[in-house]
Amino acid sequence: MKICCLVKEVPDAAVQKRLDPQTKRLDRSGEKNLNPFDTHGIEAAMQIREGGRADVDEIVAVTMGPESAVRALHKAVALGADRSLHLSDAALEGSDVCATGYSLAKVLESEQPDLVLLGQQSDDGECYTIGAVVADHLKMPSLTQVIKIEVEDGTLVCERQAEYGYDTVEVDLPAVISVGDAINEPRYPSLKAIMGAKKKPLDTKATGEVGIDSGEVGEAGSKTQVLEINPPPEKESGEVFEDEDTAETVAKIVAWLDERKLI
Ligand SMILES: Cc1cc2nc3c(=O)[nH]c(=O)nc-3n(C[C@H](O)[C@H](O)[C@H](O)COP(=O)(O)OP(=O)(O)OC[C@H]3O[C@@H](n4cnc5c(N)ncnc54)[C@H](O)[C@@H]3O)c2cc1C
Repeated sequence: MKICCLVKEVPDAAVQKRLDPQTKRLDRSGEKNLNPFDTHGIEAAMQIREGGRADVDEIVAVTMGPESAVRALHKAVALGADRSLHLSDAALEGSDVCATGYSLAKVLESEQPDLVLLGQQSDDGECYTIGAVVADHLKMPSLTQVIKIEVEDGTLVCERQAEYGYDTVEVDLPAVISVGDAINEPRYPSLKAIMGAKKKPLDTKATGEVGIDSGEVGEAGSKTQVLEINPPPEKESGEVFEDEDTAETVAKIVAWLDERKLI
């Protein structure tokens, strides 16, 4: 069984996010990190391998991004992937969700995975949609918010989180599964794995090498256009209750909460 894990390099959680008024895109300069949601996908692949119910020949980390995105691949390899694949091309710059999903599907096609695992969301774009777009192009079944995976013979039995509880769904392989962050507790990479990550095989592919139609990607190939960006409304300052008489203060707080139907 070959598992491909989609991973993305995102601005570090500590970096204040800013939209560039010129390009109307997220300013991705500054400190970056592996999307934390993707560590759950890699951990799920490792647990399938270690669970012993399926022979996992390879776990491949796959990303689309600029040159700097190799750091996310190194982190993915340190967490357990055997090798990595980097789709990188200036033609991809400005790709929206549809173009990104199409490009990732093309690079995955060249790998022929039995299972594609990805995070529930990216920490920057937070579209929650890449899994569905990739699956649509690959003509594979797709599940989202999966919090338990059991491998049966050629199928997966998954639990997916829903508003009302859980669905248990059986899905044939190959499939595209986006995992929720409740699925597992990702392991920490060992120092040896971190040191060895740069020595693991890493292939870089340009659009032409995986059959991407350059008219379908980049700003020109994207169907979405950002017309305007606006800052979020300023937060109103809170109300402060000075505690001179505790009983009176408690009564005031309860009345305040009650007025807003919070209790
Ligand atoms: C008009 C427009 C222009 C844009 N231009 C750019 C640009 O120039 N540069 C840029 O970086 N972004 C750009 N974006 C944002 C980019 O389209 C999204 O980041 C991308 O589509 C993924 O969406 P998401 O991050 O919300 O993924 P989600 O759907 O929230 O992510 C789910 C999972 O998908 C996987 N995933 C997501 N993206 C990737 C990736 N690139 N490689 C591997 N796995 C991935 C991860 O496993 C992730 O956990 C643009 C968006 C728009 C609308």
